[in-house]
Amino acid sequence: MVNIMWDVIIIGGGPAGAFCAYLLARNGCSVVLLEKGEKFRYKSCAGGVTPRALSLLPKVPEEIIEDRPRYLRVFADDVFFEFKLRGEGILVYRSKFDQWLRDLAESEGAVVKYNTTAKDIVFANNFVEVKHTQGSEEGKILVGAFGYSGHLFKKLGIEPPPYSLAVQREFKLPEEDIEEVKGAFETYFGAEFCTFGYAWIFPKSKSRGVSVGIVDKEAKSGLLLKLDYAIKNHPILSKKLRNATLKYVSKVHVSASVIPYGITKKIYGDRFILVGDAAGIADPISWEGMGPAIISSKVATDVILKAIEENKFDANFLKSYYKKLYNILLRDDTIPALRASKRVCIDAEFYSNFNKAMLLCAKEDKKFREIFIWTFSRERPFKYIDEYVRKKTFCILKHIGIRNALRMISQAFLSKLRKSQE
Ligand SMILES: Cc1cc2nc3c(=O)[nH]c(=O)nc-3n(C[C@H](O)[C@H](O)[C@H](O)COP(=O)(O)OP(=O)(O)OC[C@H]3O[C@@H](n4cnc5c(N)ncnc54)[C@H](O)[C@@H]3O)c2cc1C
Repeated sequence: MVNIMWDVIIIGGGPAGAFCAYLLARNGCSVVLLEKGEKFRYKSCAGGVTPRALSLLPKVPEEIIEDRPRYLRVFADDVFFEFKLRGEGILVYRSKFDQWLRDLAESEGAVVKYNTTAKDIVFANNFVEVKHTQGSEEGKILVGAFGYSGHLFKKLGIEPPPYSLAVQREFKLPEEDIEEVKGAFETYFGAEFCTFGYAWIFPKSKSRGVSVGIVDKEAKSGLLLKLDYAIKNHPILSKKLRNATLKYVSKVHVSASVIPYGITKKIYGDRFILVGDAAGIADPISWEGMGPAIISSKVATDVILKAIEENKFDANFLKSYYKKLYNILLRDDTIPALRASKRVCIDAEFYSNFNKAMLLCAKEDKKFREIFIWTFSRERPFKYIDEYVRKKTFCILKHIGIRNALRMISQAFLSKLRKSQE
């Protein structure tokens, strides 16, 4: 049997791959999308879709929207603040949301192959071949939208990006308890359950569900124990979940997954482009990954359409993908956020005190409150958030206690020095 020569082969049917397949098929390309999971597969995710992500997508059907958060509630030890959000963020279960995107791609003519795991990638002179569990595909160009797959990074000869670890449990709440969490993103900072990250309750009110999880930049294991500790013992979280029962979403109640960040060293090459988590572009502060995935797919689509038009698929031509992504997302958003994260994630005690101090500043300063909102909504790139926070360094240090801050910074510096000498 003769193989079809696809314009584009996409590996991975998450938001990055599915949205890319949709856009390319809509623009007349022949596209095959390979997804190792089944239809409605579970994806470990809190399901927060920011206004910036929504602004690029077609209208999300009402039946997929589980909640519309109007508030951001931040808890840092004994300090609490509730921020009123603007904009139209939504909360979804990824099983349904990703299926909707894959169905959209199919409705535009893309072929979606489920239960199909890509195993090998072979580059020939005039095409790329992807060998998978059901056979193989040949295409002009490959889009790697496979999230974090050590195996496929290796096949592409790419060093995998660093990653944080996140764990999550799905619960159901009684009607009266769901009212307490409905319509708000809740985030919890605290050194006792998290080194460099936060815990969350993201409501899925329509189904009386809540996703409860922790992300930690530093953790490589043991995070589920910390989550369970927080669920049982955190004075506020435990109260909100006192009547919670297990909920199975696409057969899953508990999950762990990584979030790649730090930008994969090579996100394009001869006949391939990486998008979404595979490109390592999740936000290292809020850990939003869907927005960057969707943005990168839009940029990749524009470049691929031009590549097909000009029949040029070499790395030199495809480097415009990196350039465009750099201008649109990386330069003002991802890279400043990475730098800021490096600055504050120096020591667990410092990180915890820093977040508490930020919240205390927000209580005093209206502009600071905007900063918190931007961090989660990304209506402004991180560069602007960082500029303002830097201006307010003295205010933050005052709340941490200048002596205290100096002690923690020098402690962190000495421990780094010791580690480098070992
Ligand atoms: C616990 C947790 C909570 C999170 N919460 C949020 C949130 O609230 N908001 C937000 O924006 N982001 C969140 N994120 C991050 C977000 O989930 C990711 O950044 C996002 O899913 C990236 O999309 P993607 O399409 O690049 O990758 P993915 O969604 O990971 O999709 C990759 C797809 O590729 C498939 N695949 C992998 N290997 C192969 C293969 N060999 N062959 C075929 N298919 C393959 C997988 O099955 C998967 O469907 C969270 C992450 C975690 C872990």
